[in-house]
Amino acid sequence: ADPLAVSARVAPLGSRLVLLLVEDLTEARRTEAMRRDFVANVSHELKTPVGALSLLSEAVTDAADDPEAVTRFAGRMQTEAVRLTNLVQELIDLSRVQDDGPIADPDPVPVDALVDEAVSRIRQTADKKNIEIAVADAGDLCLRGDRDRLSTALGNLVENAVNYSPEGTRVAIGFRTVPGTGGSQIELTVTDQGIGIPEKDRERIFERFYRVDPARSRQTGGTGLGLSIVKHVVAAHGGQISVWSVEGQGSTFTVRLPAHKQQPPAQATNREEG
Ligand code: ADP
Repeated sequence: ADPLAVSARVAPLGSRLVLLLVEDLTEARRTEAMRRDFVANVSHELKTPVGALSLLSEAVTDAADDPEAVTRFAGRMQTEAVRLTNLVQELIDLSRVQDDGPIADPDPVPVDALVDEAVSRIRQTADKKNIEIAVADAGDLCLRGDRDRLSTALGNLVENAVNYSPEGTRVAIGFRTVPGTGGSQIELTVTDQGIGIPEKDRERIFERFYRVDPARSRQTGGTGLGLSIVKHVVAAHGGQISVWSVEGQGSTFTVRLPAHKQQPPAQATNREEG
């Protein structure tokens, strides 16, 4: 017999207290371990660009007589500085979405404006790679939530779609309204024709700092935090996220979020009349 079950029968109050204490301690230990892991990861991620910048600045000084080398080193310094900026920005985004919790005061957020913002963030890279971003007509679809957080989340998904796709491919953003338990939901899909995600990694890509291919992620300026930010934002809205992918063919990220109930004008008129 389960010793906990037995002692629960013998001394219900005492054992329940002990059980609560044990659960509390386990939870506290888990939280502490996660915090330590996170700090270790952040330190490691910061060390890479900072170390590179330090070496490159020495190299620039040494190469003072060689203008070509100076230009080359300066270019690499710029790349590292961008990497550092991305990391700091994503750390700020992550702490914001983690700390704020559920959306207290949701606003109506028009989908077309949200998508415009997301696409404009990655437009330059997409153009450089000759990637077409096809956006379906969102009409007057409207989400209910925090505009800034939703914009960050959608931006991360579109950015990944472009970053993990080869030149000359297509990224498609689509929407549809679906019935949900607490009112209707809007399903947003971001589909790419990129490298895809191996099945064994699909569950883990939403973890902080998890990357399928760390070298490739760093090359595109990735921080390994993008999808964990998306996951937090979706959870805070009471939504769901899922991924479908075929290696070498592409991926589709699907997000379901609460729709903002809009009163169609015709209905409002009818009600007044009745
Ligand atoms: P990163 O900053 O590395 O892109 P993310 O948290 O956004 O971090 O994503 C985690 C990992 O998931 C990425 O490193 C990449 O390996 C994989 N990934 C995310 N989106 C895609 C995609 N659209 N296609 C292929 N792989 C992806």
